[in-house]
Amino acid sequence: MKTDILVIGGGIAGLSFALRVSKRASVTLVTKTEVMESNTRYAQGGLAGVFSENDDFALHVADTLKVGDGICNKEAVKVLVENAPDSITWLDSLGVAFDKNGSFHLGKEAVHSRRRIVHAGDSTGKSIQQVLVDRVTEGKITVLEQHDVVSILSEKGRCGGAVVVCDGERKIIHARATVLATGGIGNLYSRTCNPAIATGDGIALAYEAGATLMDMEFIQFHPTGLLHKGTNFLLTERLRGEGALLVNAQGERFMEHYHPEREMAARDIVARACFMEAQKTGADVYLDMTTIAKDVLEKEFPAITAKCTLLGYDVFSEPVPVSPTAHYLCGGVKIDLSGRTDVDGLYAIGEVSCSGAHGADRLASNSLVDGLVFSKRLAEHLEKGLLEPVEIEETLLDEESSSLSAIQALMWEHVGIVRNQQGLQYCLDELKKLTGRNATVAEMITRCALAREESRGTHYRSDFSTKIDLFRKHTLINKEGISFE
Ligand SMILES: Cc1cc2nc3c(=O)[nH]c(=O)nc-3n(C[C@H](O)[C@H](O)[C@H](O)COP(=O)(O)OP(=O)(O)OC[C@H]3O[C@@H](n4cnc5c(N)ncnc54)[C@H](O)[C@@H]3O)c2cc1C
Repeated sequence: MKTDILVIGGGIAGLSFALRVSKRASVTLVTKTEVMESNTRYAQGGLAGVFSENDDFALHVADTLKVGDGICNKEAVKVLVENAPDSITWLDSLGVAFDKNGSFHLGKEAVHSRRRIVHAGDSTGKSIQQVLVDRVTEGKITVLEQHDVVSILSEKGRCGGAVVVCDGERKIIHARATVLATGGIGNLYSRTCNPAIATGDGIALAYEAGATLMDMEFIQFHPTGLLHKGTNFLLTERLRGEGALLVNAQGERFMEHYHPEREMAARDIVARACFMEAQKTGADVYLDMTTIAKDVLEKEFPAITAKCTLLGYDVFSEPVPVSPTAHYLCGGVKIDLSGRTDVDGLYAIGEVSCSGAHGADRLASNSLVDGLVFSKRLAEHLEKGLLEPVEIEETLLDEESSSLSAIQALMWEHVGIVRNQQGLQYCLDELKKLTGRNATVAEMITRCALAREESRGTHYRSDFSTKIDLFRKHTLINKEGISFE
């Protein structure tokens, strides 16, 4: 099969890119399972953009840099922030049911110095996914569901498409441009709020094709995953923005012992505090939403109140147990500001990519807009012209994949919220005995975490617990090795 542009992934990044680029080129979009399933679908909080009169780009940039903890690519942050409002308005024009009363209703989340979170109730991602899927499927884009991309066709630094498996059958898709939009890695951890598709496949595909990965050690753990067996449900940060409090098993607020900004400190700080408080007290920690007026809770967070009620919690009268949960990959496949990787013809957008906009930790609600902004920039870049077609033969052989649950347990235990040399080295040695793309991605994360002998953003080392200026750099890893730049 031949196509001008092959898009691997149908979340906010892949779908919005496909829509924008399909006017001038033939586009084939593949998804691992059904097209409605993605990380995007589960986003609750919203999209950050400067819309209010008391806000400006400089403030949004400053908040992003503060959370990024010294290693954001400032140019990428500027691009992200300055293009966010237009991108959100574009989504609105497609029909996403954002909460509005004339203008957007703006929510508040941690570290944002102004109200700037545009949302559709607490099911923002579901509305976005549905609208984008509707637009893509009614157009001339070829959508292939249940098509698992298992390798990239590449030769001498040039990519020419991908190999997919559908119903056990291998197919080759030749493409002039191949775009990775495969999302994050949450499912490499035993505790995550990501759906099963999020195993970082695009990271392994890019690495095997010769691309460079950046800042892979920075995995964001969200502080408040609902702690209930059999569910990976998240309790959005916007709840804390509206006044919800973190308490320990004795009902005491504990965040003041960890950071002056308490519940509104950056995510990595709050996640670590929850983890440490649970360790210190030997008991669970809780999110107390009873501090939010009942009508606000019901009106603004209908999906969360319904889900908690279904699971037997009365959020209006009692705190609910929570735990940090693997949430977001701040690093990824290294891209420039147009979405190009360092393999010709291979591009990356969305959570799988890393422009450096998020640095060592991501500001809440900056990732959906990242997917929109950088997919638009890539579409604009490719509209200037595609590379000449190349016919590259499949060279990679599939190897037996090791069990995901073994990797998840190792990663949670040793490459989780608190890390140290001994645990990381042990994990790396164990991972080297395993095979398959999940093991490759886990190994990349672990090697980068081992190399960064400091604590910064989401990366906390108990044996190097402070920030060190020498490491105010990006971690780069590819087949040639690891370096800081
Ligand atoms: C519970 C939750 C809440 C969140 N809340 C927010 C929020 O409020 N605001 C915010 O900004 N961000 C939020 N995020 C993060 C945000 O949702 C993601 O970063 C973003 O949706 C990623 O979009 P994406 O298009 O890059 O990837 P995804 O939406 O994850 O899509 C990935 C796509 O790639 C496909 N794929 C993967 N591997 C393969 C393969 N091998 N072959 C073929 N296809 C493949 C999948 O099938 C899927 O279609 C949240 C995330 C979660 C999990």
